[in-house]
Amino acid sequence: MLRWFRRRHEPTQPDQRPSPSHDGDAEQAYIREAERRRLRRLLQQQAELQYDREQALEAQKPSNRWTVRAAELEAAIAQVEADIKQWDQPQRAPSPPPELPPVPIQLIACDTTAPATLTLVIGTIPCTWHEAIDWAERGHQLAPAQLVRDEVDLSPLFPTDLTEDQRTTLSERLLTSLDLLATAVLQAIREQQPIDLPTLSSLVRPCPVCGGWRDLHDHCPTCLTRERHRQQLVSELRRLRKERDAVLSDMARTRDRLPIIERQLREIETDIAALQAKGVTLEN
Ligand SMILES: [Zn+2]
Repeated sequence: MLRWFRRRHEPTQPDQRPSPSHDGDAEQAYIREAERRRLRRLLQQQAELQYDREQALEAQKPSNRWTVRAAELEAAIAQVEADIKQWDQPQRAPSPPPELPPVPIQLIACDTTAPATLTLVIGTIPCTWHEAIDWAERGHQLAPAQLVRDEVDLSPLFPTDLTEDQRTTLSERLLTSLDLLATAVLQAIREQQPIDLPTLSSLVRPCPVCGGWRDLHDHCPTCLTRERHRQQLVSELRRLRKERDAVLSDMARTRDRLPIIERQLREIETDIAALQAKGVTLEN
């Protein structure tokens, strides 16, 4: 690019130069202006290369902005690795949660006409669901009907020696299982299938992993939440390692450019000196 510029705008050879005339003055002014523009561009390139050289020299230092950032990332990586290790450690064998009594569950009322209602009784505690239908417009049903449960307190059925946390977990799990059961029962009645009602003790089963309870479908939300959290940590670890590698390769790239930058800088400085020797300045 520079070579092209030089060829195109270098002054014509003296012997080819037209004799001094008005046209000759105009040509000289044109050439001088072109040289000034070239000097301006070279000085700008020089400033840019000087900045690049500072960066490359900085990257040679044992401690620099890249190593500082990489160290911060290493610390974060070590922290996340420790967190994952802690999550992966086998937990202390959890004490199995207390058994629930095998209280029978009975169907005492069901009206399958939409919106349906259903009542189950657990021991002596009745629990009723109503079908909630989202009618978009008359005659057109948008989504499948959902069973909505009336408020119910099942705590009289709980073992007495539970901690407050266990009572909360058990209550959530039991209500989830009852909702699943109510949906299955209503479907069985509509399809005229036999209904097999479990007892309270089989609605929630102990989770051997966390010592809580699993629902009717054998899902343990506590364990699922833990697994999700672990997955987040693994993604975070991957992201941090990628960023650290990018910082280190940027440092290596910047450092390795030093000889190229210095060569370019020497060439440009030679060109600048040549123009200045001819008396070209930015002002004239
Ligand atoms: Zn669990």
